[in-house]
Formats: sequence, structure tokens, C-alpha cells
Amino acid sequence: MLKETAREGKVVVIHYTLTSEDGEVLDTSDGGEPLAFLHGAGNIVPGLERAIEGRAVGDGLNVSVPPTEGYGDRTGPGPQPVPREAFPDGVALRAGMMLAAEGPDGQQMPLWVAAVEDERVFIDSNHPLAGQTLHFQVEIVRIRDATAEERAHGHPHGPDGTAHHH
Ligand code: ZN
Repeated sequence: MLKETAREGKVVVIHYTLTSEDGEVLDTSDGGEPLAFLHGAGNIVPGLERAIEGRAVGDGLNVSVPPTEGYGDRTGPGPQPVPREAFPDGVALRAGMMLAAEGPDGQQMPLWVAAVEDERVFIDSNHPLAGQTLHFQVEIVRIRDATAEERAHGHPHGPDGTAHHH
């Protein structure tokens, strides 16, 4: 029987551990739910998606992803202070959180909270992992066809395609 391989239009389910260059674990699915992504839809960083392309269930990979294939190089002035009162009350601001801001032409642009102080919040246009080489340890646990709905949405609806998250 021909093995399913990861390619466009497939939902790929992986267990992964992400470590920084100095070996710090930044994120892992270990002990939790595996991560499902729609291959070819940009759900994961390009360098990791490319490394997984053509692989089969059971394959294990160690992938080093440079910033240009990951979250990009750091650009701009870096974290900028914004008064705490500029944010609505009741929003629990914490470092690493993503905020959606509206750009000058009304386009959505992501911003990240870099640090939170009593009176000021530092906002950065760079992803927290921008400028870093990322090390992924990946095991492919499942590959299946994406449903028509998943392809239309550009993301998987859970490992089985049955999660109704919206
Ligand atoms: Zn959806």
C-alpha cells in the first residue's frame, strides 16, 4: 500500500518540541494534544513546512529553521512603550501575547506584547521568535485528506476534521 505523504491539501498531525539555539524548550506538544496543520496553507513557519513536505507517518525529523524561514529577521525600532491606560480595562496583558492592530490603510497588522509594567506596556512589531534560529524535533503521527471546508478556511478543524471551533 502506498504511504500517505505530507503535501498540499493534506492535514498533517505532528508532535513537536521547539528549542532555541541555547537548548531552551520554547514550546512542545509533549504530554498534550498533537498539532494539526493544513499543508501548504502557511499554518506553520515555511522552513518547517518545507522540511515536512514529502514525509510519511512515523517519520521523525530534526529541523533547524533560520529566521528567514521562520518568524523573520527583527526589523524596526523594537519594543515601544504605550501607556497602560491605552488598553481596555480587564484585558490581562502579558508578555508574548499577540494583539491585532489596524494599520494606516485599515489592514490588520499583528503586534506583540514584549513586556508589561505598571504604567507602560511595551509593544513590538516583531514576533517574539523573530531573529532566532529555531530547532524543531518533529514526529509525524497522522496524515489525512483535508475536508473541503478545511481547504476553504485554510486551517484544519482538529486532528479529525470534526472540531467546530466556529
Ligand atoms: Zn475553520
